[in-house]
Amino acid sequence: MTTQKILGNEVSAQIMEEVRLDVEKLKSERGVQAQVALVMVEGDPASQVYLESAKKSALKIGIAVLERRFPATITTETLVASIKVISADESVHAILCQLPLPSHLDEAKVIEAIAPSKDVDCVHPYNQGLLAMGGEKARFFPCTPFGVCELLKRYGYSVSGKQVVVLGRSSIVGRPLSIMLSTKGSDATVTLCHSRTQDLQSVCRSADFLFAAIGKPKFVTRDFVKEGAVVVDVGTNRILGDDGKYLLVGDVDFQSIVGHASAATPVPGGVGPMTRAMLMKNIFSAASL
Ligand code: NAP
Repeated sequence: MTTQKILGNEVSAQIMEEVRLDVEKLKSERGVQAQVALVMVEGDPASQVYLESAKKSALKIGIAVLERRFPATITTETLVASIKVISADESVHAILCQLPLPSHLDEAKVIEAIAPSKDVDCVHPYNQGLLAMGGEKARFFPCTPFGVCELLKRYGYSVSGKQVVVLGRSSIVGRPLSIMLSTKGSDATVTLCHSRTQDLQSVCRSADFLFAAIGKPKFVTRDFVKEGAVVVDVGTNRILGDDGKYLLVGDVDFQSIVGHASAATPVPGGVGPMTRAMLMKNIFSAASL
């Protein structure tokens, strides 16, 4: 069996161009300049990299950026007050607060300070609640699961009526993905697995579509995959290669499923590039409300 590679680079570039045109039109027809506030508490190098790259992507497609960096010593009260000010600013349509926050801060209180209508990362309990009530009611979809669904759609795959297994139940990937896939319109029959799932291999082997989001390098091998299944790998793990250099691998052992799965996303180059594109799409949606 030939395994089709599902690649995110081209699709994400296409979405970025669509959003660029939408942002331009919003400005020329309604006089609205889309603007995102990127909020970060200093100290986490990974957050720094993510913020810089989100900023670059936004500016590239005409979205204005308000950058707010706070010192690592900031208190919850001051950060909450600052986010409330940004939330009330009518020129800001979207707020992205880099998570995780340093451990001395109360993350739940900070998240609740983000206006739900500007919560483009879909982390506010109000937006998570709308999502849980059924995807059709949601205002925003979390960017990574949104990217996964969009990638499959643009490749012409439908999960409707199919057996789907999602590995991993985190609030930013696995759980929202399971909700989105099972909601009306997507119509998959979804099993959500986690570290306590018994007989994981045979549960996974029942899947027509298998989604892996557990953060365990090359955990999913051919033994987990039904012949002809579609495998989507959300995992992004840095491991030390034989040459002493770090390399990026997924939760799926891609080589072991080649010739067995009908299609699969590689890491890197599969799901990864989609997250940023969907963030831009969410920012545009917030600006056009
Ligand atoms: P997470 O919060 O650590 O959650 C991991 C989930 O996997 C948990 O639900 C855990 O179960 C489950 N799990 C762990 N080991 C397992 C095992 N042996 N068998 C079955 N389930 C197991 O991770 P996350 O934030 O969702 O991220 C998952 C992966 O996606 C990571 O590699 C991350 O880097 C990647 N990621 C990629 C993107 C992207 O843009 N491409 C975005 C976000 C995340 P319990 O709940 O029982 O502990």
